Amino acid sequence: MKALRIRGPRDMAYEETPRPEPGPGEVLVKVEAAGLCRTDIEVWENRLYHYKVGKAKLPVTPGHEWAGVVEELGAGAGGLEPGQRVTCETALGCGSCQLCLSGHQNICQSRIEMGIINRDGAMAEYVVTPRSTTHALGDLSPEVGAFVEPTSVAVYSASRAGITPADRVLVMGDGPIGLLLTQAARAYGARTVMTSGLSPTKLALAGELGADVTLNAAEGDVVDAAREQTGGEGFDVVLEAVGAPELVQQALDAAAVRGRVVFTGSFVGALSSVDADLLVCKELQVAGTIGGGAHYAEAIELLRAGRVRVDRLITRRASLSEAPGVFERLAEGAGETLKVLFRP
Ligand SMILES: [Zn+2]
Ligand SMILES: [Zn+2]
Repeated sequence: MKALRIRGPRDMAYEETPRPEPGPGEVLVKVEAAGLCRTDIEVWENRLYHYKVGKAKLPVTPGHEWAGVVEELGAGAGGLEPGQRVTCETALGCGSCQLCLSGHQNICQSRIEMGIINRDGAMAEYVVTPRSTTHALGDLSPEVGAFVEPTSVAVYSASRAGITPADRVLVMGDGPIGLLLTQAARAYGARTVMTSGLSPTKLALAGELGADVTLNAAEGDVVDAAREQTGGEGFDVVLEAVGAPELVQQALDAAAVRGRVVFTGSFVGALSSVDADLLVCKELQVAGTIGGGAHYAEAIELLRAGRVRVDRLITRRASLSEAPGVFERLAEGAGETLKVLFRP
């Protein structure tokens, strides 16, 4: 079969590799669609934390946002039929540590991650998944199915912030995760949602997808706008989805007294200094999230019900053979690109 192999730092090829076999408890899936995420680019650049500290090694086949159909079931992998559309959770915990046992596989310290840490992902014709973390997608299309993973990330963040209908929510970021957070905040019943970012096109889309107010951070100050929108109080919830160091301080400034701030962006290599006294004087609750493992089922439901819409987030469809060029270009900056979907 053919697979997109990251062979070394900034070295990849769509090349012939042996087709994997499903072992006991595993599923062989024929990939239909795989989305490109900034994490894939960080793996390719060899910048991701797990590579820097030597916990993950190349080569690897990227791809953790995807959907495909069951081709073959390994021994004991029951409950699925060939032809069924599925996706799989990214993080596979050790299954026996305290974090895994309490449902936090996504942060298990010995986890592997499909397409990211020591296990091949779905930018290939076929991928093997553990049955235990494989989810049936029912009648979701392959393209919508490829958004289950990023949607689960957004839902996890909204859930970690404990959004209720009483909350005014600020979403910082107008990329795919920012637009999914905007919708997740709405799905959780947020009283108002403001989304900030740098792209007029993406911010217009945020408005169509549920933001009451959008702010172009190149033209206006996010903290001033936050105060203006909330009668000077600040937002009850701030969800950050960029990973830029200067946004850490802004997020704390934009939050209300006793506000909840959740960081979901990836701050690869970024150092940030903040006025830590705000944490104390405003009694802020600050959290981070990584992945969305425990929220796959919820993400699938929201997508099925149309409460999270992703069709407009696809800005390009390409064949995997075009992937090396696409990685090169996006590493320079996303521009107006939201999600690129590859098909083998
Ligand atoms: Zn991702
Ligand atoms: Zn574990």
